[in-house]
Amino acid sequence: MVKYMKTVLTVTALALLTAAPARSQEVKYGVPVKAGPMDAILAKDRNPASSLVVPVTEVSKAKFPVIDAHTHSSMSRIRSKEDVRRWVRTMDEVGVELSVVFTNASGAAFDRQVEWFAEYPSRFQLWYSLDTSGADEPDFTAKALAELERVYRKGARGLGEITDKGWGVERNENTAAPRARRMRFDDPRLDAIWQKCAELNMPVNIHIADHPSAWKPQDANQERTADFQTFALYGKDVPSYEDLLTVRERLLARHPKTKFVFCHFANQGNDTAALAQLLDRFPNMYLDISARDYEIGRQPRTMRRFLQKYRDRIMFGTDMGADKQMYLDWWRLLETGDEYMPGRVWWPYYGLELDDATLKALYRDTALKVLNFK
Ligand SMILES: [Zn+2]
Repeated sequence: MVKYMKTVLTVTALALLTAAPARSQEVKYGVPVKAGPMDAILAKDRNPASSLVVPVTEVSKAKFPVIDAHTHSSMSRIRSKEDVRRWVRTMDEVGVELSVVFTNASGAAFDRQVEWFAEYPSRFQLWYSLDTSGADEPDFTAKALAELERVYRKGARGLGEITDKGWGVERNENTAAPRARRMRFDDPRLDAIWQKCAELNMPVNIHIADHPSAWKPQDANQERTADFQTFALYGKDVPSYEDLLTVRERLLARHPKTKFVFCHFANQGNDTAALAQLLDRFPNMYLDISARDYEIGRQPRTMRRFLQKYRDRIMFGTDMGADKQMYLDWWRLLETGDEYMPGRVWWPYYGLELDDATLKALYRDTALKVLNFK
């Protein structure tokens, strides 16, 4: 043991001796860089404790009633009527009036969820998810249309969240077809479905591409923390981020009567100027802000202007489970001017201090116009 430790010490000492001269010559902004314990810290373990002394505002309930336009029954751990009752209690506490629930289900699985939520027709709106497992069958479109009309009669009032991160519509790395045969959102097989959604006034929630950092290497320059590695697409057999985004324009242009809600700021919350151009061109385009707290919090002034200007096109959504604290963190980010809030990524967030008119639109009024309450 002693011998082993000696060896380790010798190796460490050697490493320091060899590394130290090179490091000590480095000067950054006048500060000489020295080797030290922090050189051995892993990216995943980085967790700076802030010494900043600034006000911390606790917002225990949203300032105005909220419609949450992006939740998943699975993510909110709903498997029974009792689970739904528990969720309603949390919603009451934090000020959420209604949650749009993506069931990720069709057929009997959808019907089962209708049962779970039956006690609260005014608190939840269930949406249907497209089943694309039979996309290569000749009767795919006819079957999908029949199921869409059936779930509408059962109470479904929207279609989504439907995802294409590059593997094809509602496919993943394991279920993807060869790249040339993958179904994209502008595929002719889906035309009749988007058309039917317009007829039934069912908005469609679309997840296209993913955060741009997913296409970057998982190295020292990676923008998001190691917690997001699960979404990495770098080096995988998928189209580029840019190519995937162009599908949005073709889809919006081809179906002007269908309301498309692109979730997570259409995965372009890092570039609100580009989003503004799209919103100006396509009146049938809407956004939800779900799961992009970090895009909002890192650019509070730009985001405030964007949310103010496009308040009639953008809806609030969470997509982060159903824990009470999760909701309260959202209210603090949107309503207060608190600074340097801890977030889920490398950078802390800054509160937006949204004005009442913008908050009301974002929280509820835009959803009242987009959603189907018939
Ligand atoms: Zn989602």
